[in-house]
Amino acid sequence: MLPVVALVGRPNVGKSTLFNRLTRTRDALVADFPGLTRDRKYGQANYDGYQFIVVDTAGVHGDEEGIDAEMAAQSLRAIDEADVVLFMVDARDGITAADMGIAAHLRRIGKQAYVVANKIDGIDANAARADFYELGLGEVHGIAAAHGRGVEALLQGCFDPLLEAYPEVKIPVAASGEAVDIDAEGNLVDAEGALVEPDEDGNIYDPEGNIVDADGHIIDHEGNIIGQLGTRDHDEIDYDALPLKLAIVGRPNVGKSTLTNRILGEERVVVYDMPGTTRDSVYIPMERDGRQYILIDTAGVRRRGRIDETVEKFSVIKTLQAIEDANVVIAVMDARETVSDQDLNLIGFALNAGRSIVIAVNKWDGLSNDQREEIKRELDRRLGFVDFARVHFISALHGSGVGNLFESVLEAYASASARVGTAKLTRILEAAVDDHQPPLVSGRRVKLKYAHAGGYNPPRIIVHGNQVDHLPNSYKRYLMNYFRKSLAVMGTPIKVEFKESV
Ligand code: GDP
Ligand code: GDP
Repeated sequence: MLPVVALVGRPNVGKSTLFNRLTRTRDALVADFPGLTRDRKYGQANYDGYQFIVVDTAGVHGDEEGIDAEMAAQSLRAIDEADVVLFMVDARDGITAADMGIAAHLRRIGKQAYVVANKIDGIDANAARADFYELGLGEVHGIAAAHGRGVEALLQGCFDPLLEAYPEVKIPVAASGEAVDIDAEGNLVDAEGALVEPDEDGNIYDPEGNIVDADGHIIDHEGNIIGQLGTRDHDEIDYDALPLKLAIVGRPNVGKSTLTNRILGEERVVVYDMPGTTRDSVYIPMERDGRQYILIDTAGVRRRGRIDETVEKFSVIKTLQAIEDANVVIAVMDARETVSDQDLNLIGFALNAGRSIVIAVNKWDGLSNDQREEIKRELDRRLGFVDFARVHFISALHGSGVGNLFESVLEAYASASARVGTAKLTRILEAAVDDHQPPLVSGRRVKLKYAHAGGYNPPRIIVHGNQVDHLPNSYKRYLMNYFRKSLAVMGTPIKVEFKESV
């Protein structure tokens, strides 16, 4: 499970700028107006191999009233749910009264917090940092979020102590250790056929992107040991024998609990009652048609006779954690509500995380044909970006359509773990290039040479070529869609990555 990091601080200290840097998205408006970017935003951070969930909170002044008080309350809730708080201050402003107020709150609740003095570019960083020790929260990290200075050191400082609790926070970044093939003796070799040398952590990477550690263990993207080098044929991991982790997610009141109960009511529940805090989902092993599943229940199964039902069931962080941890996500939507940005954000998050997805439009009972047609038109309009996912119209309440969901779940999982050989991928690449040439870059054509599988769950395809840095995004998208269509991939995002051939 990934740790959660909340960015807090006054408006305008640079929280969104850091958020964007960590998540590498550019969709947040960054501008010189105090308080412009105030909505809570959630993103997957992947920075120098550190992976975590980052929450950008509305700014806190410390003297909020009315609507501002509501936003401050949201920030406080985000702080509550976070493992680590990055408390951002503006290195150019010095300490303000609001900073003192936030620091006092953080000291009071005893949350792991790091003071981050932003905007140290162009000023005396040490002098600026020195000011903020007065906040009483220890070490002050100087960064320039806009330029990236100090960010890696900051992440090292706050994550290295967490590595034991959250080993998946740091994925080793492949340095020299990347293999593209296995030779006749079973050695991992690079594109030239030379033996691959371990990187600085002693790891090498097999052609599927799995780590092979110093003892020859083959470790997949989720940290499971899946074999021993030299003894495992890469085509023999039996994904069908692993339990399929299935998360049921969606906004409050769309019918997640009803659907979960419906699914569990029909099937044998192996273990039912598991403890969970507000932040944690409940993991329920179950069996269906002879296959093992682990249902990740974000809604909280209603337990009769329990009083903890009043605890707020919905938590964005819980939902994001569940998505991260799942193989397949059932995104539940309410047919009686218009498609909301929150629905789309959850789906977008799942796709970014590389999760397979099935969309369940719930409460389909009792609607007129006209209403149904109108809903379908709206879904077509808004779900274009995920047109490879199956959409089911169900009634969790009455059970209609629920069984069919599982067909699509299995189909998506099969797509995500399907094996495709280098020869076939290269043939598809050649066909794509024949149909539509890559663009010229200063008179020379970007040359794409071959493609191979880089991993499964989600499927990664690695394309090797020359000048691939110059490929425009439109062409990358074209290739991705071409691969998707040619491989008939349903329900799972695929990632296409580009490597410069030497
Ligand atoms: P937020 O309200 O805390 O989310 O702050 P923003 O990220 O919107 O940033 C507020 C302003 O500070 C924007 O004009 C940014 O361009 C600017 N800013 C952010 N980071 C830096 C930095 O590292 N150096 C400088 N000089 N300006 C920055
Ligand atoms: P959650 O917050 O997503 O877990 O949603 P719940 O499962 O608690 O459902 C919210 C409300 O929607 C409850 O009143 C349910 O009875 C109702 N509901 C759930 N599924 C259906 C359905 O298929 N049809 C109808 N008509 N109502 C439903």
